[in-house]
Amino acid sequence: MPERSPPFFLAIFFSCERLSVSCTVRCPRSFFCDLGAPKSAGDRAALLEAIDQGMTDVEKPSGRRHFLKVASVGSASLAAGGPFESANAGEGKPQEESKAPRSRREKQVDLLFLGTGAANWPRRYPPLQKKLSRGEVRGMSSMLVNEHLLVDCGPTVLDVMKRYDVNPAGVSDILLTHTHSDHLHPSSIEAIANARDDGLGPLRFWGDPAALTQVPDSDHIEKRPVGIEQPFTIDAFTVTGLASNHYVEDSKETCLIYLLETAGRSLLYATDTGWLPTHTSIYLRKKQLDAVVWDATMGEGTGDPRIFGHNDLTMIRHMNQTLASQKVLKPDAKIILTHLAKNLHPVHEMLEKRLLPEGLIPAYDGMAVVFE
Ligand SMILES: [Zn+2]
Ligand SMILES: [Zn+2]
Repeated sequence: MPERSPPFFLAIFFSCERLSVSCTVRCPRSFFCDLGAPKSAGDRAALLEAIDQGMTDVEKPSGRRHFLKVASVGSASLAAGGPFESANAGEGKPQEESKAPRSRREKQVDLLFLGTGAANWPRRYPPLQKKLSRGEVRGMSSMLVNEHLLVDCGPTVLDVMKRYDVNPAGVSDILLTHTHSDHLHPSSIEAIANARDDGLGPLRFWGDPAALTQVPDSDHIEKRPVGIEQPFTIDAFTVTGLASNHYVEDSKETCLIYLLETAGRSLLYATDTGWLPTHTSIYLRKKQLDAVVWDATMGEGTGDPRIFGHNDLTMIRHMNQTLASQKVLKPDAKIILTHLAKNLHPVHEMLEKRLLPEGLIPAYDGMAVVFE
């Protein structure tokens, strides 16, 4: 009998400006587990009810971090050994090792979205006093993993951290996808590096060697070059940089997406990119992903020139279908959309109502996803 996978939770933090308690709403068991499969009318109604409850709760003065669980336990089986073992066995020894404090169970992976917008959102985040509903404002795309591993550091990340009570001093490592200014903001990187206590050592900053030339030189920053398809370790994670389908003018860098693997869990963070390059898709064939975070810059529209380095929803659907047929996506894999262009998507509530029933989860700033 295959082992059952650990539980999965999709948790959502709301920004409410007057502090204090949190509330939990639990959807029917296995509700998100079969997001990719057709839903019954009952399931769909329950999902929409959960969303409505969430939106209602936003209006309550119940704390800056409002914790709302809207999904429950996963049900897919895991391959024996898990991706952590297979990465080390298949790819040789990890390139480098870095340690960070462990404050959670070994297998738990927490994601916190600290920006979900493409480059055409404002680069200044609203002041804390301004109440925001989900997706009303999007910072530049960034994601925090297990409270210490940050993917990309654009100009809004510090403001979003402040809003969701994230301590920048807790960031031990930053992974850089590429040097477009919505992903790389030197003064924010320096601020995070300088926030660390001396005893913790320098901030490790990982990226393509050519991209690292644009990262500030500082005693508080240790630059670590990433080789394409060369795994390295950060705490409990095996991290692999893969080539993306994206381009930075006047730079010799290869733009990267990242595969994050830990005991029993595997995640692809794929922005900025359009179609996966062929070699990247071949590399992924031996993986089994619990989640993909896709660049979803464009919505359903056509004719946007960004399509050559970004995805629209049709492309994402095609890739999901193919990855699922190759068994690269686990049956209960979560498909999360980020890097949403300001003018190419409807308001977030509408986006959820359209996309959640087909298994696409549009991210928003402050959204947390917990794999247990
Ligand atoms: Zn971008
Ligand atoms: Zn870009």
